[in-house]
Amino acid sequence: MPKHYTGLIEKYRERLPVAADTAVISLSEGATPLIELMNVPRLARRDVRLFAKFEGLNPTGSFKDRGMTMAVTKAVEAGARAIICASTGNTSAAAAAYAARAGIACFVLIPEGKIALGKLSQAMMHGSVVIQIRGNFDDGMRLVQEVAKTMPVNIVNSINPYRLQGQKTIAFEVIEALGDAPEYHALPVGNAGNITAHWIGYSESVCQNTRACALCAGNCGYHRKKIATRRPIMVGYQAAGAAPILRQRPVENPETVATAIRIGNPVSWQQALAAQQESDGWFGECTDEEILRAQKLLAETEGIFCEPASAAALAGVLKDLDAGRMREGSTIVCTLTGHGLKDPDIAIAQSVKPLTVEAELRAIEHVIRSYLPK
Ligand SMILES: *Cc1c(COP(=O)(O)O)cnc(C)c1O
Repeated sequence: MPKHYTGLIEKYRERLPVAADTAVISLSEGATPLIELMNVPRLARRDVRLFAKFEGLNPTGSFKDRGMTMAVTKAVEAGARAIICASTGNTSAAAAAYAARAGIACFVLIPEGKIALGKLSQAMMHGSVVIQIRGNFDDGMRLVQEVAKTMPVNIVNSINPYRLQGQKTIAFEVIEALGDAPEYHALPVGNAGNITAHWIGYSESVCQNTRACALCAGNCGYHRKKIATRRPIMVGYQAAGAAPILRQRPVENPETVATAIRIGNPVSWQQALAAQQESDGWFGECTDEEILRAQKLLAETEGIFCEPASAAALAGVLKDLDAGRMREGSTIVCTLTGHGLKDPDIAIAQSVKPLTVEAELRAIEHVIRSYLPK
């Protein structure tokens, strides 16, 4: 066994459905930082401890790696020679990378023209077969399920239960970092697999049988290991133009700048509702303007560059703090699902353009004089 960190399956082996001799396909995903936001709460005049679980620091730049290490490991164990997924971008990036690592083929279905450039470049670079469809994610998802009935391809979308098993480790890591679950855990919701996985992870970390606990006198596995004493309130944020769960009906033509959550008919809808209800949580929505403002705020005041979908978590939390829906004095974790570099077009479009000057000292001095803080 190597001493250095080798990924979440090795770390959480006994809490994941793998055998002792399962050959693990890993890129050392997981173990992402939980970064306390220092400036956002102050600027928003809110007395809360606000943390960002920065999943953009996974090997392919999103939390999808956590699920993909499990899905590809299990696919290879079962003898699969090809995997397939529908994707808004990040699933295809992760699937392509882990398939490359495993030496198997990868097919990805993406909505034509609606995928961020960084994600597309990843799927292409890792050598997957990229199929653009003239349709949206939901069309791709339906096609993947149909084609898997006739072709020898293993689906690695989050309907694959191993994906959620890998992704539940986010909750394990948050509990380890904070010593317990936070009061609130907020995250963006697209296909709704991740909120489901978070809830599985938190639920597996607490003892839910209070009577047995009284009997075990603090001697059961949970109490001995001091995993967690509570589960958080789960809060899921959708983009206003793609909010089927909030509106309680599928959205035919979902639209949002946050392409990773541009989904109108989530596969894990029912599980997400269960997580919300069991946790006394709620779903909220954010407009594209609110999402982009939160993305910029994080980048400019905290030094954290996440993609638009990820910023929906912070945008929603700021709104719900303002509305008094989240308690002051509480601890809140936002999952920042993916890295800002995934979508350079969006970042450049909303930022100040570079200045162009002559290659002369005086020109540079002039610029510095104009922009130096007074
Ligand atoms: C996939 C993804 C989401 C949505 O996660 P679901 O499990 O589909 O709800 C959010 N943000 C980013 C960056 C993603 O890649």
